[in-house]
Amino acid sequence: MTRKDLMAGNWKMNTSHLEAIQMVQKLGYRLDPADYDRVEVLVCPPFTALRSVQTVIETDYLPIALGAQNCHWEEAGAYTGEISPTMLAKLGVSYVIVGHSERRQMFGDDDGAVAKKLRAVLGAGMTPILALGETLDQREAAVIEEIIGGQLHAALDGLDAETGGGLVVAYEPIWAIGTGRTASDEQAAEAVGFLRGLIRESWGEATADSTRILYGGSMNPGNVAGLMAKRDIDGGLIGGAALDPDKFAAMIRYYK
Ligand code: PEP
Repeated sequence: MTRKDLMAGNWKMNTSHLEAIQMVQKLGYRLDPADYDRVEVLVCPPFTALRSVQTVIETDYLPIALGAQNCHWEEAGAYTGEISPTMLAKLGVSYVIVGHSERRQMFGDDDGAVAKKLRAVLGAGMTPILALGETLDQREAAVIEEIIGGQLHAALDGLDAETGGGLVVAYEPIWAIGTGRTASDEQAAEAVGFLRGLIRESWGEATADSTRILYGGSMNPGNVAGLMAKRDIDGGLIGGAALDPDKFAAMIRYYK
């Protein structure tokens, strides 16, 4: 089975809605139909820019998917400051990142919250991008498999392949995020292969084969081709480099 590569730009807490419009327009100018055939392109602006970016995508007929960086698990109610999956789905959002390490580390998103968010995203008809990864201490203590395996199982526990099987997983070693320090191609491929093996054990060969697993952590135009050459790596979750449309486009066109 061939898995279509997915290049996802996580803009984090950057760009006003006006800057976001310019970013997605610039990205659109730099890509051509062959790129979209080969690679699925996704941008995840901040909440405040989703509507503006969605309008550009629609009016310029850009085959770019729209994603959100987070959501709450409830549908509606007294949750001041939160955004529900249904609100996102109504805006044309098709992907939601859950469990990003910045959320886990700074905003208390523990495994329980991540699992609830993941289910809520699926329930609203969108695709979760489940982000997980180990700290440097955990890597050095050689407990990576325990950590990322634990995060995967906690998020997917109780879901079957039919309900959860469409999700995307992003392996993001925390020590590589925003640090300029990338996992080697081999380190990334080994962790991604391990995660695919766990999906195979839980959900069988067909789902393991069709699940896209991304790498994230200081991916850039210089290292993208080496990482993408690894059979198990199906794309990237890209932070810093995705804020520069030239760099992000070059990464989407890594295959050229
Ligand atoms: C991320 O935000 O998920 C990420 C990988 O960031 P960066 O590419 O900047 O390391």
